[in-house]
Amino acid sequence: MMYNISSNRFGKEPLSLKQKHASKVLHILKKKYPNAKIALKYDTNFQLLVAVILSAQCTDKKVNEVTEPIFRKYKTAADFARIHQKKFETMIRPTGFYRAKAKNILETAKIIRDKFGGMVPKTMPEMLTLKGVARKTANVVLGNAYGVVEGIAVDTHVIRLSRRLGFSQHSDPVKIEQDLMKLLPKQEWFKITYRLIEHGRAICTAKDPRCDLCPLKKICPSAFQFPRFKK
Ligand code: SF4
Repeated sequence: MMYNISSNRFGKEPLSLKQKHASKVLHILKKKYPNAKIALKYDTNFQLLVAVILSAQCTDKKVNEVTEPIFRKYKTAADFARIHQKKFETMIRPTGFYRAKAKNILETAKIIRDKFGGMVPKTMPEMLTLKGVARKTANVVLGNAYGVVEGIAVDTHVIRLSRRLGFSQHSDPVKIEQDLMKLLPKQEWFKITYRLIEHGRAICTAKDPRCDLCPLKKICPSAFQFPRFKK
């Protein structure tokens, strides 16, 4: 069972108070995870896009294992566009949802080859025309490939931590992204994703958050609200 506490403590507070709370959280996370960055491995922008699509419902570790031999051979959208769908399904099968992922990646490879001159697009509206690409994938790719920051990438860790930390009461990633964009200064939008992911992996895990070890425990509205601390 996963414990997602959405605290009301900050829900009705004015934005300025929430921003103050967010800035304290940010300060602590920056100190704790100064070098937080994407864990997916890739050499080209198109490989980055492939890795991010494959990472849906799959760990980055597994994606890196699966992509290592693929990325040695296939580098560009044109390379991927030539792979037969059945063959590609077999290659990416361990990442789960492999039929849909294979279809999306190969269609996207063709779109990029034919409509974008082989280059991964540089804007959010263009990214959203690709198959299997929603705002999370687009934000990750634009930020890491081009330093273009148009939003905040919201994955499963960011959803969980945003709720626990009182940044958002929503479950929908697009609404959470809007809440985070209101709370955090734009220069922090790119890195916050990776700081929250690292914290979500190391301490504020889905099933058994270690509030006792957490540097945010004095300011987190969900601290110690989990079964481990209620025995
Ligand atoms: S105190 Fe830390 S570990 Fe506990 S819920 Fe808050 S952020 Fe997560």
